[in-house]
Amino acid sequence: MKRIPHWIGGKVTPGTSGRTGPVYDPATGAQTGEVDLASVEEVDAAVEEATGAFHAWRSASLSQRTEVLFRFRELVDRHRADLAAAITAEHGKVLSDAGGEVARALEVVEFACGLADHLKGSYSEQVSTGIDVYSIRQPLGVVAGITPFNFPVMVPLWMVSNAIACGNAFVLKPSEKDPSPSLLLGELLAEAGVPDGVFNVVHGDRVAVNAILEHPGIAAVSFVGSTPIAKHVYQTGTRAGKRVQALGGAKNHMVVLPDADVDAAADAAVSAAYGSAGERCMAISVVVAVGDVADPLVAAISSRLPKLRIGPGTDPDSEMGPLVTGEHRDKVAGYVNRGYDEGATIVVDGRQRTFEGDGFFLGASLLDNVTTDMDVYRDEIFGPVLSVVRAASYEEAVRLVDENPYGNGTAIFTRDGGAARRFQFDVQAGMVGVNVPIPVPVASFSFGGWKSS
Ligand code: NAD
Repeated sequence: MKRIPHWIGGKVTPGTSGRTGPVYDPATGAQTGEVDLASVEEVDAAVEEATGAFHAWRSASLSQRTEVLFRFRELVDRHRADLAAAITAEHGKVLSDAGGEVARALEVVEFACGLADHLKGSYSEQVSTGIDVYSIRQPLGVVAGITPFNFPVMVPLWMVSNAIACGNAFVLKPSEKDPSPSLLLGELLAEAGVPDGVFNVVHGDRVAVNAILEHPGIAAVSFVGSTPIAKHVYQTGTRAGKRVQALGGAKNHMVVLPDADVDAAADAAVSAAYGSAGERCMAISVVVAVGDVADPLVAAISSRLPKLRIGPGTDPDSEMGPLVTGEHRDKVAGYVNRGYDEGATIVVDGRQRTFEGDGFFLGASLLDNVTTDMDVYRDEIFGPVLSVVRAASYEEAVRLVDENPYGNGTAIFTRDGGAARRFQFDVQAGMVGVNVPIPVPVASFSFGGWKSS
């Protein structure tokens, strides 16, 4: 079984806390690794290395930093397959999906290669007699990222690429469920020429997270994960005087109007709800079927589910892989029970699909006649369970999106250009798709949800 150590000061650093966590291959259910869980002292050591490296890095010329970023871009590109394999080995998503994650990560690195353009200050001449004024952009110092399991390469690179391009030093606390890809990033950053200490990885759980949030040497924290932890991170970090950005969970609604192309909407719903086993913050977890589109739409989605190829992420035939852990799989399966008890109609029960071996697999489930008082509607399930809520009108559909506490993304499927245009202004959500189920913007646009997301 492999030991997964920290990456501090530009080198692999075995943990000393005596605490470890299990890491699994979700496709087989076998434990493949043990990740070191950092103590407060180990977080201190990483911050000390980052602090020591910061001054030289912030003083490096913009062109030197940019050169390093360009080299890193080449290395990520060259190591796409290795990064994708590292993701699939611990997360479980299919290799093509993992490759897509690396491609999206690369776009952010490319954005960071051009960051010089965004780092310009501003200048005003003669604001008072003989006085000119200018503002400059400066790095913050040591900054930290705390990231979720579902994008173990892309989300860290959202943060790290831009932070170091700006001249900051970085401490990453990746998810303890799939920690290995972050070490690969450490190696590639070092090979690209990022000086020792500018990028550090401390693995861990709440002990490491809370140590980061309280650490006086860390100026800012970027968090991506579930909403309860996002709130904790935001409150604790800001109380300690840090800048904090915290992206939380989601319950993304896809509104289908009666004039929509039912086959296109069903295809979109299946890929957006069950792709990556539903473990995406931009997954569609609720379809709002308006008027008489509901029956044909539910029939079209359910007819596609038996054909969904579920298997190990490394099998090129698989379209959907396992869930990340056995515990999470059981929790998601429990929601299908709960939906039934709450009065939803189980159109397709993914628990009935059988799989060979002990992998954390679960079939795709479709629940109809879901209502807003049910837990299956209220909770972020984060698995392959799609709920259909029936609405009488466009107005009722918009009200559902707006009254939901989450507001990460939403989508509308319609042939009516007027309704589509109106929808983007009517809904309270950060990212809106029109006949596109997962409206994730390219790296040159900002990404972020509203409300509890
Ligand atoms: P999570 O909230 O359980 O974990 C996120 C991070 O917080 C991890 O590094 C974890 O170690 C740490 N953490 C967990 N519990 C903690 C605690 N009690 N105290 C301190 N730190 C703690 O999230 P996850 O299960 O890894 O990821 C899935 C979640 O992330 C979903 O809710 C998903 O919607 C969300 N997500 C959001 C976005 C977005 O852009 N809004 C993107 C990806 C994932």
